[in-house]
This record gives sequence, C-alpha cells and structure tokens, in this order.
Amino acid sequence: MKAIGLAVLVIAIGVAPACTVTAPATVSLGEFEGRISRQVLVSTQDEYNSAARAAQPGDAIILASGVWRDFDLVLDAEGSESAPIHLLAEQPGQVVLSGQSSLRLGGQHLVVSGLVFKDGYTPLNEVISFRVDAERLAFNSRVTNTVIENYNNPDRVQRDTWVVMYGQNNEFDHNHLSGKLNSGPTMTVRLNSENSQNNNHHIHHNYFGPRPVFGSNGGETLRIGTSHYSLTRSGTLVENNFFDRCSGEVEIVSNKSGGNTYRGNTFYESRGTLTLRHGNGTLVEDNLFDGNGAPYTGGVRVINADQTIRNNLFRDLTGTRFSGALVVMNGVPDSPINRYHQVDGAAIVGNRFEQVSTIELGEGSDAERSAIPINSSFKNNIVIGSREVTPFNLYDDMSGIAFSENYTNLKPPAELSDGFVVLAQGDSVPLVTSSPDTFGVLKSETGVTWFPKPNAASPFEGGRTIEIGPGENQLFEAISTAAPGDEIVLKPGAYNEAKSIAVQMPVTVRAAEAGTVSLSFERRNLFLLSADGALKLSGLAVSGTSAPDNVGNSFIASTTRGGPGNHIVELHDMSFEDFEINRAFSIVTAAKGTFFDRVEVRNSSFRNVSGVPFKFDGETDDFGIYNVEYLIIADSTFENVRGSVASIYRGGRDESTFGPHAFITGSRFENIGAESAPLAVLHGAQNIKIENNQLVQSQPVRFVITTGIPKVAHAGNTDSNGEQVSALSTEDLRK
Ligand code: CA
Repeated sequence: MKAIGLAVLVIAIGVAPACTVTAPATVSLGEFEGRISRQVLVSTQDEYNSAARAAQPGDAIILASGVWRDFDLVLDAEGSESAPIHLLAEQPGQVVLSGQSSLRLGGQHLVVSGLVFKDGYTPLNEVISFRVDAERLAFNSRVTNTVIENYNNPDRVQRDTWVVMYGQNNEFDHNHLSGKLNSGPTMTVRLNSENSQNNNHHIHHNYFGPRPVFGSNGGETLRIGTSHYSLTRSGTLVENNFFDRCSGEVEIVSNKSGGNTYRGNTFYESRGTLTLRHGNGTLVEDNLFDGNGAPYTGGVRVINADQTIRNNLFRDLTGTRFSGALVVMNGVPDSPINRYHQVDGAAIVGNRFEQVSTIELGEGSDAERSAIPINSSFKNNIVIGSREVTPFNLYDDMSGIAFSENYTNLKPPAELSDGFVVLAQGDSVPLVTSSPDTFGVLKSETGVTWFPKPNAASPFEGGRTIEIGPGENQLFEAISTAAPGDEIVLKPGAYNEAKSIAVQMPVTVRAAEAGTVSLSFERRNLFLLSADGALKLSGLAVSGTSAPDNVGNSFIASTTRGGPGNHIVELHDMSFEDFEINRAFSIVTAAKGTFFDRVEVRNSSFRNVSGVPFKFDGETDDFGIYNVEYLIIADSTFENVRGSVASIYRGGRDESTFGPHAFITGSRFENIGAESAPLAVLHGAQNIKIENNQLVQSQPVRFVITTGIPKVAHAGNTDSNGEQVSALSTEDLRK
C-alpha cells in the first residue's frame, strides 16, 4: 500500500488519549515507498511518542512540517529488513528541530530522513546518537538526507559530538554537517562495548562542511575509535564523502581502531591530515587531497602496523611537519597504547603527489620517538612539482622503507635515489596508478540537494551599503538593523555612542572619507562581539576620552553571552588616541572562552594607551587553548603605550594546533611598556614574524616556546638611528 490519500488512521495505545491523524496527501515517499505500508502524520511531541510506541514494521511516522522545539526525539523500535520502521519529514528540509533537540535510535532496521537541526544545541552528549542509552543500541539502521548546521553550545568549551555511531551495520549517508564551533569531534564511531565492535558501519556521500579553527585539541571532523579500543576491529567504510574546509585542528580524521577503509573521499582546503593515529590494517585509497594552496593543508599521517595508502591524489598541499602531504611517523619503542606505535608493514603504492610542499619521513624523531619505520614499501608513486626542491624530508634512518619504481621530476635525496626514475623536462609522466580519474568525489554528489552548501566569499561582502550622518547613537541604530555583510558609511562629522553595541554578524563601518569622522563612546566597551560577530573598521579617528573611569575598558571586546563564533576584526587607516582615562584600557580584548580567527591592523596609529592594546591572554589554564589564530600588525605606529602592544597566551604541550600566529611588520613603536614591559608577549605562539619595525624606547618582544617546533622570523628591526636591533628575546620551556 502506498500513499493513502485522504484516508484517516486512528491510533489508540493503552490509556493514552486516542489521537486522530490524517495521512498527508503530499508526502512523496521517494526511495522508501516500496517498503512502507502505513503512514502516520504527527504534529505534536505527544502524537509522535504515541506513534513511536505503537510502531510496526513497515510504518512511516511522518513529522509535520514546521519547527519542533526542545524535542527529545527517540525512536526505539524493531523494524525488519524487508519492512523497516521509518521516521520521515513531511517535506525534507521543512522539519526543523531547534532549541534543545536531539535524536536517539535504538533497535533494528530504522530509517530516518529529511530532518534539519539548527538554531539550538543538544543538551546531551550527542545530537544524533545510534543508541538510546548504554543498554539499547541501534543495528542495521540508517540516517540519511539530514542536516545539522551551526548547532553549537553557546559555551565553546562545552564538549559534545553531533553524530555518534554505536551498534553494528549502521549507515550514515547523504547528510550535511556544517559549522561546528564548540569542543568535540563533529562525528565519531564508538567501540566501547562488544556489540559496537566489528561494526561494519558505512559512512558515505556526506557533506562535511566548514569547521573553522577551534584553537585547541578537540576539533576533529571524524574520529573512529579511541586509543583504549584501538587494537579492536571497527571495519567502518568511509566512502565518497566531501570534507570542505574542515580545519578544526591537526587531525581532520582521527583513525583510532582497526580494519577501516577510507575510499574515494575528497578533502578540500582542509587543514591537517587524515591521521592513522591508532589501530592497524587501515586502507586509504582513491581519495583526493586538494589543498588548493591553502595554509597547513595536508594528506595522510601514518602510524602503526599494516597501513595501506594506495592510488590517492595529493595536490597543491602546503602543509609541513605533522601536516605534510604524506607523513610517516617514528614510533615509541614498546609504546603505551596512547602514544606512537611503530610503523610496520606500511604499503605506500601508486599515489600521485603534485605540487606538494613536503613528504615527511621519520617525523617526530626524538629521544622518545626513536622506532623507525620497518618492513614498509614506497613503490610506483609519482612525485612532481614545479619548484626546484624535492618535497622529501628525512628525519631519521629510512632503510626500513623500500623505495622502488617511483617517478619524479625533482632530484630526490641521495638516500632515496635508487628508488626513483628522475624525469627530464619534456618527459611524459608515466601512468602507474590503476585508475587516474577516480580520485575523490564531487561536492555536488554529497549531502542533500535542498540545503545550500556554504561558499567561500568574504564575510564582509554581499550586503547593502547604508549611509548615516553624525550625532548621538547613530552607529548603534544602524547596526541594530544591519544584516550580515552590510557596510555602514559615515558621512563627515562627530559621532558619539552612549550605548554599547552588540555585534553578532559581519559588519563594515567606514568613513566616507578617511580623516573626516571622529568617534567617541561612553561605555566600557563600544563593540561587544559574539556569535558570528566580525568588524571591519576603516578611516575613523577614535578617542577614548568619553569612556567611563573604569579599570580595564576595551574599545572592542568579545563575550560568551550570545553564542560562540570565530570572530574577525580588521582595522584599516584608523587612529586611536587618549585611551588612558583609567588603567588597563585596551583596543581589542578576548574574553576567556572566545576565539578570533584573525585580528588584522593596517596603516593605523595608536597614541596614549594605558593598557595592552591587543590582549589575547585570557586562557591561562595551560590546556593548549588560546584566543587568537592570527594577530597581524602591519605598517602602523604606536606611541606612549603603558602595557605591551600585544599579549597572546597559549599554555600546555598539546600538539593539535597550528597557531597562534603573530606577525608584526613595518611598524614604528615609541615609548612602549612602562616598567620595562616587552613590546609584545607571545607565550606559546607557533608562528611568529617580527620584521622591519622601528623600536624607540621599547623592549624586545618576549617569545616563550612551550611546545612543537615554532616557526620564527625576525629581521630588519632598527632603532631610531636606523641601527639593527634584536627585537626578540626567547625563552624555551620545552626541556
Ligand atoms: Ca585531536
């Protein structure tokens, strides 16, 4: 029996009140039609719960279109292989679960399709869980055609996972997961009980949308297993998924169990690598790793035994070290289960490396990680590039990897040269891979058709231009009605703001003509960023003289109230004067628990500031968490600043992030740091550049190395006479 037209079903269960439901005439059952014998349309949570309790094989419970708030949706039922129990949207994409909603599945042969989770976050550990509780797991069940977007706990350090697969033989396909901001992997497969092991799950044709930099460990997009169960077989097949800008941390995928396959996936502009962190016998084949030249993009990081990496295309990847195109790690002799097992029996065959920065062999070699790869092969691979230099770096003895019949146009290191045919210019590149056109999957073949995939446009583009004139609270009024991407243009004159302005979307504020607009403010903070708040300010002369007589004012501040987000602040052609009404006055400060993707200052001037103008040192817990990914100060001047110009703090020894970055270039600093404070304090930064600055009555930048191998450049810094000065003092805490 298919669609029932206008027939009426009556369901009566126990003492629950009978509810009369009308089967919808409009539901298109699509691919499920043949296995559905009865439809039950429900419009309230009570109706749903009654229908779910009574569900029989072949039933389809249909959620009416609309917004379902705070819905603890549980489907605990026994379908059959020929007649599963379905939970469907009346119209795919039109059933929205918001507020504190979640979905739990338990039983057999269940199918869920067409839901959207947005405008809220889960009160549980998961948004979608393939178990009801620790006793009641799901088997042979499927979630498809479902969206989770920006469904983030407002406290970004609160940990949850959007999708967790338990049980066995489950399928997760054609779903769209985009914009996770808070702590915890986007999706995991768990093996924490016997009936979740040997699970043979199938994860395919999903769109894993942008995951911005998290700023600590815990930003993985997919994790399969945990170190504790890593020597257990999972057998999950991860196939034809598109990972789009999944850049939460150094592990895009963290493989931590045995017998998994990653086949035909595309990794696009994603920072980090598919990391074979724990567990043996992984197959990685037919994938496309396309960095498109974006920073820190990598390929596969190999650890443990019997890993096969074959017939993949690695293209335009810029990452190095842990984020190389291919990274073969050194192991720890007799490693504990949570450290690094030796690479043994790796087969790296028939891959194509085009324009990649590095292939790292023996990475991590140190006193602890001294076990070199053994019984391994690197065969029939092609390594081509237009740079002069080979991407291979050897950090230890690589005699345990047999190199043979590889091709390259870049002279390989002497130790590897027997394993390569070096192509001359004009030689055609041989086809050694089995099927060169089968790498990866197209974005359009993944996710759902009815929900847009985010594009890469600047957040400051695409809005209206709104012109305003001088006076009281003009900016407050304009921003309170602004839409994302809007640009507010200030006509010449004096602007004063008596109110603090909450900024929860990207907005540009620009002087119609640089130097004609003055701005003063009367509250502790003029701009308070939360959610997607981002500010681009240009051409304004800002005075701090009207601010209240408080300690610790800041022109721009972030707050955890209003939701998490990765903020951007750009200051162009700005001037800031007389921020000294009381102590510790800042220009931009980050609250603990907030994160800035980028704070960029260009061609701006700062004069008479009583605090630290750029203050990102709120995360003092030494958990590897920090407040800013990129701080860029270029071509600017600072004069009479009592604190350091900038302070960044990232404590702890975790190796999961690429930042913080601090680039200070082409700027002039005069009379900075009363009581000999350094020009800047960069604690735990991973990438710093201090170049071509002039330092007058100022101390060098203080750089504290806490972990990893930071990238450091400093040159061309001078004093008032143009003499070279050392602009950096370094302290190394790694020993
Ligand atoms: Ca991690």
